[in-house]
Amino acid sequence: MKRVHLFWIIPLLLIFILLWIRLLSPTELDDVTPGISCPELEIYNPNILWVIPNFENNPIEKNEKWCEEILSLNKTIGMHGIHHTYEEFNNEIKKEDLEEGMNEFKGCFGYSPTMFKPPQLKISPEEEEVVLNTGMDLKGMFNQVTHKVYHCNDSTIPKNKWIKIF
Ligand SMILES: [Zn+2]
Repeated sequence: MKRVHLFWIIPLLLIFILLWIRLLSPTELDDVTPGISCPELEIYNPNILWVIPNFENNPIEKNEKWCEEILSLNKTIGMHGIHHTYEEFNNEIKKEDLEEGMNEFKGCFGYSPTMFKPPQLKISPEEEEVVLNTGMDLKGMFNQVTHKVYHCNDSTIPKNKWIKIF
């Protein structure tokens, strides 16, 4: 075998392994909240839903029917930011605000969130501390790369159809 072939085998093998990991891992859906249309719930039927507790001043617990519908899907549900403003957790977050978001979540689903994913996956060391102090599990870039993560309303690059393939 020529040297040039060996040179390509390792990166190709790594990509192949990553594709398999993504294929076998539970699928996820980001940006689930009453104010964002989400046909992706049905199209991709993901295993894990990342819910925004209070998007554009629309607290989830005020949307009882929506809460029931989401609960009836029997999915694993995590908390995704509080309001999901741009790089929300790269800025100062007060412990009380985070707890208020967790309470919205609990008011809607009947239990406190046990895992958290920051909007745009951006979180400062201080805010990381605030989240971890609540006891929630923090998911970030590693989780995003090793899982197929779709977005409601197909709002992010890479688009959902590419996520589906890769
Ligand atoms: Zn998001």
